Amino acid sequence: MTMNNKGSLIVLSGFSGSGKGTIVKELMSRYSQYALSVSMTTRAPREGEKDGEAYFFVSKERFEEEISRGGLLEHARYVDNYYGTPRAYVEEKLGEGRDVILEIEVQGGLQIREKFEEAVLVFVTPPSAKELHRRLTGRGTEDASSVANRIRRAAEEAPFMRDYDYILINDDLDLCVEELHRIVGAEKQKSLRRASFIADIGRELADLSAEL
Ligand code: 5GP
Repeated sequence: MTMNNKGSLIVLSGFSGSGKGTIVKELMSRYSQYALSVSMTTRAPREGEKDGEAYFFVSKERFEEEISRGGLLEHARYVDNYYGTPRAYVEEKLGEGRDVILEIEVQGGLQIREKFEEAVLVFVTPPSAKELHRRLTGRGTEDASSVANRIRRAAEEAPFMRDYDYILINDDLDLCVEELHRIVGAEKQKSLRRASFIADIGRELADLSAEL
């Protein structure tokens, strides 16, 4: 699928505790070109999570119905729950020229790669495993077994970093946000996205050289 004059589709994945949520929030507040996709999930809302904002919270039946009617761009199971990206919103925003961000885990990221060759896959990671552990512990919201689970999960996800286009090391939030914004900007200059421009200027140059 090609998206020449449309917005870019950006997949942002990362270890739990990598700070990807904060990066996205900050990016959205700095630049208006981005649209954040709200996922559908079967997991229960956490304290303070509103339906339609954090997620669309649905039953397993409703989720499976959505899969079978083709309403999801990708979906995955993660820790006993389903998560998926509603297709309509993403297509609408890309069509409007907005850059759409999917904050999703790696299985979903790889499905997007299969369907959209021009999608930009970015993986966010802390500078080291020790730092990830420190951040997860420092949150104070997780007990020791939950921290251990998240670290184990991160170890499983780590090999998939190779399938991503960019690895964003989150050492400094401010820098990270700007780096992500620059990555998106640079992607737009790729010749793959400039096919119609290349064809047009080639034709114009041929016509001009015949006239001269
Ligand atoms: P949480 O339950 O902590 O909100 O999310 C768990 C994981 O699911 C996170 O890595 C998050 O990025 C991922 N996730 C959220 N929405 C989607 C989605 O629509 N598709 C996929 N594949 N993963 C998602």
